[in-house]
Amino acid sequence: MPELPEVETTRRGLIPSLKGRKILGVTKRRNKIRIAIPEDFEKRIIGCRVLSVDRRAKYLQIPLDSGDVIICHLGMSGKFTVRKIDSTPFEKHDHVIFETDRCEWIIYNDPRRFGLITLCTQGELAGHKLFKKMAVEPLGNEFNGAYLKEKLKIKKSAIKINLLDQSVVVGLGNIYVCEALNIALISPTKKASDLCIDDVERLVVIIRDVLNRAIEAGGSSLKDFVGADGDLGYFQHQFVCYGREGEYCKNPGCIGEINRINQAGRSTFYCPECQK
Ligand SMILES: [Zn+2]
Repeated sequence: MPELPEVETTRRGLIPSLKGRKILGVTKRRNKIRIAIPEDFEKRIIGCRVLSVDRRAKYLQIPLDSGDVIICHLGMSGKFTVRKIDSTPFEKHDHVIFETDRCEWIIYNDPRRFGLITLCTQGELAGHKLFKKMAVEPLGNEFNGAYLKEKLKIKKSAIKINLLDQSVVVGLGNIYVCEALNIALISPTKKASDLCIDDVERLVVIIRDVLNRAIEAGGSSLKDFVGADGDLGYFQHQFVCYGREGEYCKNPGCIGEINRINQAGRSTFYCPECQK
């Protein structure tokens, strides 16, 4: 499932093919992915120029010179592929195809169809139901120790649960929360309000670092993808903690073993030895 680094990698990968380009054609090969694609989608997009490719949490926002914004979420299995226009047939799960004046197809493929493509106006964006309740971005300046400490000070639930709460910080996801807590030596089950300011400051730095390193890994894989089959956004990860149940903890000097527990219906990987 694409997490924030994959979405950011997809965004960066789409920029050369979309930013400043004119959309010459749109093909909907189905009317609905997770939700219906607007009926007037093609009419509102064809002939428009793309201003930029932005990201909010795990959503792509693609503003057009008409004042509309294309919104896209990759769901569980969505991906974009870029390829030169040719006679190769589309694949079964290629749902939406954009044609640009760079003689390219930008293809949205999503076998499990939990993704979403919709449209709103620039004016509707901030108050849009998908975005209006979202907290700060983990890579933005507003996400800092003082902010996070303030958010956590009345929270009696576990720190891990709060880091996954979109009203605390957006887009982190289960994997990166497990990774960051392991590196920060903080137990995922610790009551959020019990974290001292030093813990919180350290955690913020580590969260940014873990995400940035994953984005860099995605970035370095990007040219290979475009060179091979044009798929954007999926790459090999190397996790220090996530998915390593029963293996040794990688924290320096620790001889503990990674455990798996369940928190709010999701797997948590952590080391009981060094994460206190
Ligand atoms: Zn450990």
